This record gives sequence, structure tokens and C-alpha cells, in this order.
Amino acid sequence: LNQPLTSILNNARAALRFLDSGALAEDELRDILNDIAMDDKRAGDIIRSLRSMVKREESEMISVPLNDVVRQVVSLFNSEAIIRDIRVETFLTDDLPNVTIDIVLIQQVLTNLMMNAAESMVQESRERKISLRTEAGDGHRVRVVVSDTGTGIEEKDIGKIFDPFFTTKRSGLGMGLSLSHSIIEAHGGHMRAENNIDKGATFYFDLPTGEGE
Ligand code: ADP
Repeated sequence: LNQPLTSILNNARAALRFLDSGALAEDELRDILNDIAMDDKRAGDIIRSLRSMVKREESEMISVPLNDVVRQVVSLFNSEAIIRDIRVETFLTDDLPNVTIDIVLIQQVLTNLMMNAAESMVQESRERKISLRTEAGDGHRVRVVVSDTGTGIEEKDIGKIFDPFFTTKRSGLGMGLSLSHSIIEAHGGHMRAENNIDKGATFYFDLPTGEGE
């Protein structure tokens, strides 16, 4: 939710700055207001999807290529990557079977993994890189792998990171991974994490394709 809200705030501030300088063209104002409306809708969609999952109502499950969802999230993350000087690489396997998902929720899982990866690289002075991979998983599953070049997870914390309210960040909530884990399980998938041999951490999740049922 922070992402659309920050974007709304930035756009509103930009419009005010343009207004104050007397340099606001009508077209620009329209673009800014359209962006605000779009981000507001995105925030509303996130709340609606989370609420229906928590209340175990029917959520909007549709069959989509997972690569499309990864591409959408990477493009939403673009400005964040530029601001934080992070290179985002994708290795998307073609012709994977579709997955039946609540897109808004799976977008949240991916966004959360990318934000965590970004936050783990804040102190990193060398290469800051997030790699996303999609591939066929075991037994009618599609797997997504998100890898970073950050601090990695302290060995003593590895068993706790999916617990609600577990955080090592000063202003962390500790809800991101717990919710992400629940979202993946609610879709019939699994999520896990491990440290890389050289540097950083890798998160894996898979989703069933519905084939072979
Ligand atoms: P928060 O981001 O609010 O701390 P999360 O549930 O998303 O909550 O993450 C819990 C904890 O897991 C983080 O505080 C951090 O210690 C650890 N963690 C998550 N992702 C990574 C990562 N990519 N690299 C290193 N540690 C991570």
C-alpha cells in the first residue's frame, strides 16, 4: 500500500508546485490527476483483495501467464529501482502453463519480495541487483525465484522470517513475509527462503497450474 500512497503524494505535491509556479498546463494537470486516480484504484484493489482473502470470501481468480504478472510488477517497480540505483534482471521461461490466481494478491507478494530485496541492499556499495526467474516447478507447478545481492538473512533468523511481526528493521512491521506466505499457501503453493552462497538471499515460491487434477 505504501507504493501507491507515496505515488499519490508525489503527484499531488508536483501539481501544487506547478500551480505555485504558475506553469501548470492543462494537459499536465490531466496527466497528474489520471495518475492519482489510477494509484488510488490500485490501493483500493489491494485492500479489497486482502479483505476477501482474510474473510475467506470468493476472490477474483483468473487464469494468467505468471510471466505477465512478473512483468507488470517489474514495470511498477521501475521508478523505485531508479531512485535506489538497483538493476533488475528478469529470466522468464517461455511457454509455462497458466496459473489460476488472484492477480492483485500475487502482485503484492512479488512487490513485497522486491521491496525487501531493495531494503537489504541499502548499505551495499557494490552491485545492487534483483534477479527474477520463472521456471517449471516440480509436479504441475510454476516457480518464481527472487534473488538479491544484499545482506542475506542472519542464520539465527532464517526460521522466523515468515512469523507475523518478526522484523529486524527499525521501522519494520514484520507483516510482509507472513502475509505473502499466507497468500501463496491460500493459492495451494509454497514459499521458502535461503541465503546465497556468495551474497544476498533468494526467495522461492511456486503455484499450481491446475494441470493433472
Ligand atoms: P519487514 O520488511 O517489515 O521487516 P517482512 O515480513 O517483509 O517485514 O520481513 C521480515 C524480516 O525478514 C525482515 O525484517 C528481514 O530481517 C528479513 N528479510 C526479508 N527479506 C529479506 C531479504 N531479501 N534479505 C535479507 N533479509 C530479509
